[in-house]
Amino acid sequence: MKVIVIGSGLAGLTAAAYICREGYDVTIYEQFSEIGGVTATIHKDGYSWDIGPLLLEGLAPDEKLGLVLAELGISDKIRIIQEDRGQILPDFEIWRPKDYKGKYWRREYFKQLFPSESKGLDRYYRYYDQVMTLMAINTRLERAKGLEAIWLKLKIFPKFLKVKKYRDKSAADIMDSFFDEPKLKAVFMGILADFVVKPSEFPGLGVPLSNIETAFDKRIPKKIKGGKLPIYHYIQNGCEQLVNAFAEYIKDNGGKIHTNSLVEEILIENNKAIGIKLRNGEEKSADIIIASGGAHKIFFSLIGKENLPSEFVKSVENLVHMESVLMVHLGIDFDPTPHQRAALCYYYGTYDIEGAVDRCRSGDFHDGKQGFLIYIPSLHSPEMAPLGHQAITVYTIAPYVLSKGNWNSRREELADKLLIEAEKIIPGLRERSKTEIIMTPLDFKSRIFVEKHSFGGLAPIMNQQNPPHRTPIQGLWYIGAQSESGGGVAGVVAGTRNCILKMFKEL
Ligand SMILES: Cc1cc2nc3c(=O)[nH]c(=O)nc-3n(C[C@H](O)[C@H](O)[C@H](O)COP(=O)(O)OP(=O)(O)OC[C@H]3O[C@@H](n4cnc5c(N)ncnc54)[C@H](O)[C@@H]3O)c2cc1C
Repeated sequence: MKVIVIGSGLAGLTAAAYICREGYDVTIYEQFSEIGGVTATIHKDGYSWDIGPLLLEGLAPDEKLGLVLAELGISDKIRIIQEDRGQILPDFEIWRPKDYKGKYWRREYFKQLFPSESKGLDRYYRYYDQVMTLMAINTRLERAKGLEAIWLKLKIFPKFLKVKKYRDKSAADIMDSFFDEPKLKAVFMGILADFVVKPSEFPGLGVPLSNIETAFDKRIPKKIKGGKLPIYHYIQNGCEQLVNAFAEYIKDNGGKIHTNSLVEEILIENNKAIGIKLRNGEEKSADIIIASGGAHKIFFSLIGKENLPSEFVKSVENLVHMESVLMVHLGIDFDPTPHQRAALCYYYGTYDIEGAVDRCRSGDFHDGKQGFLIYIPSLHSPEMAPLGHQAITVYTIAPYVLSKGNWNSRREELADKLLIEAEKIIPGLRERSKTEIIMTPLDFKSRIFVEKHSFGGLAPIMNQQNPPHRTPIQGLWYIGAQSESGGGVAGVVAGTRNCILKMFKEL
């Protein structure tokens, strides 16, 4: 059996790894000159920066991504570093205390800041614990078999009943039911600005899941009622270590990876995928095709609406995507830690998340004033910068299409404005910068060949259905960020694994 995989991001790499593990002939075609998609690490003048993921969920040996690495026998190819991050709002800062103050220290800290919200905070954290228990059992259920699966299903049901009443509520509804203070609501909803999704659109059950306490203090014990909390890791020396581990595995098992190979068309005969056509005109036949990448490009350009059922076309047309990012990578020759104490911190410049998302969607770029993050990978991986120097990434959510001007003509100006905001945190960034790489939404677009670049794929809005792995075309499977409702690296890798195992069952 001959399999073609389109794309060498972590979805494509995971698919190819599982396919060659079974001894099948697999070839990846990647349009860019390097592999890895948004999990690539870029290098310049002795500095290295990741262009995508930062602090990753799922990498511990007993978590989603860690289990995949163990299954493939490549866990020892990467080194992971457990960490947490800071969160700064206009009037207060949230950094883990020097001495550990227990798993609910944030709740107590917020009570000091907002005494009138004490009862609401107690209620919110009870809700948080209920959702976390439910998720912990669900995570175990995903891999359980036989009696264990039955036992876990029985266990999960009463837990679900406890939070069922929140199922159809949005994040905004949930926050309104716990708190009055907009500043406190923004603490828990700030991350939605990163997804470019409005609190009124985001599922309320997702609020605890996007504010897991271990992300703010790595000392919080993992073990909870029902299972374990997710924890967060960096990959030492950047995400490319993960990409290389997968690529090496594929090559060692007879798989092939071709870069600079844009797939322009998926060839279809009698509603069955039979091969691909590359931009250089070459045609390659295959029994199965597994495609990653943007849904619009894959289904409308590579396949064509005329080859798909109209209902399916409509569902892809109606997908709501996140917006893009403006990213500036710098190499600096001084120690930034007096200004930012850990490798990663999110800075919010507004409490109005709903309005900020609206403005971003309408093309209004905030110049960094409404928020950004600063990531200093060389703090956890000194090899990512020359001795005594640091690699820094400053980035923020940005509209894919600007309402005024365009990204080509405003590239330098908008990067400079973002750095002016970042300099309010770390002074001297521009003056002491030794090197710089700017990545606008257009750079991301060409890097991963999408119609419209959206930072994490589809927006996690209530009732949005991602295109399924099984496509209406026989022999064609769809994987990657836009086919997983969870998105993120761990979701993409675990989802791809499940898709390939399902596919094998049907062979
Ligand atoms: C800035 C940023 C920050 C992020 N932060 C996090 C984070 O902190 N935590 C987290 O878990 N996730 C994060 N993510 C999301 C996560 O990185 C992605 O969801 C995941 O890596 C997507 O993997 P993928 O393989 O689906 O897509 P991609 O990595 O986009 O790979 C798709 C590949 O397919 C290739 N391709 C597409 N079409 C074609 C074609 N026709 N022919 C040939 N090749 C083609 C592209 O060139 C690309 O290499 C972040 C993403 C970004 C961009």
